[in-house]
Amino acid sequence: MKINLLPQIKTISSQLKTGINRIMPNKKEIQQDCFKYSYNFLKYEKSSNLAEVHSFVNLNFPNTHLNITSTSDGNRILRTMCHLHNMTRGQINFPPRIETYKSKDKKFSGDYGDGIIRINSSCNIHESTLAHEIAHYNHELLCPNYAKMGKLSEMKAEEITDFSIYNKFRRDLASLNLIKRTLCGYAASSPCEFVAATFEALANGKILPIKIWELYKKYEGPFADMLKPFFTK
Ligand SMILES: [Zn+2]
Repeated sequence: MKINLLPQIKTISSQLKTGINRIMPNKKEIQQDCFKYSYNFLKYEKSSNLAEVHSFVNLNFPNTHLNITSTSDGNRILRTMCHLHNMTRGQINFPPRIETYKSKDKKFSGDYGDGIIRINSSCNIHESTLAHEIAHYNHELLCPNYAKMGKLSEMKAEEITDFSIYNKFRRDLASLNLIKRTLCGYAASSPCEFVAATFEALANGKILPIKIWELYKKYEGPFADMLKPFFTK
């Protein structure tokens, strides 16, 4: 199996592990990549208090407000934002508001709606969930058909009557099986969840089959062409 990785992760592919921000290119690779694509590589730096968290946000992500109460939540959010910024070469959009809440219900690790991402800080998959919700935010922003790609219950609640995209997705059994095998069962519940789960897996350093990229592109996943090298040939 031939694997085509982005130049910036090529030399450290042996160190690929699951978990956000494990892929760190070296300085020369960053310079080459930034020159080629004209973006500012953001280096995450751990903050020691909330004031530092907010000043990092104001400087690097001025359109986003963090509504958080702990420095460790702030650091996890900032590490994820820097990682996603670099992964998409500065193209990713962040919502106007990201907030944390504490809930004992481990079933809900976070959600997104009306430009606000809410993360359950009691949940230990925090960073992966944030990448997932940011994927929903960008998908909605960049894809005019986003509203027609939700789960049936969501579409009915929004009074959407055109289920053609959803039906096509749910009837493609071969693709659904691949999605369940390579991502998770939840990713097969709707095109929206498939797109978010794919983006989340890429953020976690996972290399996915090219067939998943074809589906990601088909359902207008954000930055599909840029992210293509993260998939196998
Ligand atoms: Zn989701």
